[in-house]
Amino acid sequence: MAEINEVIGVVGKAVIAQKEFLTALDQAIGDGDHGINMARGFEAVEKKLEVLGEGEDIGAVLKTVGMTLISSVGGAAGPLYGTAFMRAAVPATGKFALDVDTAEQMIAAAVKGIQDRGKAVKGEKTMLDVFIPVHECFIEGKEKGKSLLECLEASVKAAEDGVEYTKTIIATKGRASYVGERSIGHQDAGATSLTVMIKALYDYYKK
Ligand code: ADP
Ligand code: MG
Ligand code: MG
Repeated sequence: MAEINEVIGVVGKAVIAQKEFLTALDQAIGDGDHGINMARGFEAVEKKLEVLGEGEDIGAVLKTVGMTLISSVGGAAGPLYGTAFMRAAVPATGKFALDVDTAEQMIAAAVKGIQDRGKAVKGEKTMLDVFIPVHECFIEGKEKGKSLLECLEASVKAAEDGVEYTKTIIATKGRASYVGERSIGHQDAGATSLTVMIKALYDYYKK
């Protein structure tokens, strides 16, 4: 099983690689900093995990990731993703390997954290339009006895569909809500960064 530090490193690198694309998406209907924010956050995470070292359980690592994102990233996404990682850490405490059951609990906790903090629901053109369908993939996977890889494969598809869906709706939360109807036709930056992370996870576990 993968070392959690390595998994976070891979996810962070994938986000950093999409810095310009994510920023361009946010430029169209927001303030053009999403890629910059996320890259700054994951660069800080990389440094923090070097200090934390190897051998920590998944919960401890995710807690560090969450706290680092909250303290190093301004704007909406930093605190929202930070809360998501910190909440996901709770069911992962004492775990060194991921299973579908734990992953489902982690995603449920992450989604709830984002909703507690940002008060959004599905259909408001945010990262939740990806996260909620991804959670549904894990609920279904748990019921049907799917493997982690099968759940991630379904999640990539659900995430891509979620991003497409954000193009069709008006933003009612976050900065994109300021442009109202003009947000239609544009994909949400946060939904896209989350999709980048899910894809990186799938590619990692596929190997
Ligand atoms: P800011 O909008 O403060 O500049 P970012 O550009 O980094 O922050 O992040 C914007 C992203 O945050 C959006 O694309 C959206 O996915 C997400 N977001 C904004 N507000 C909310 C919210 N209330 N709930 C969930 N996600 C949100
Ligand atoms: Mg922004
Ligand atoms: Mg901003």
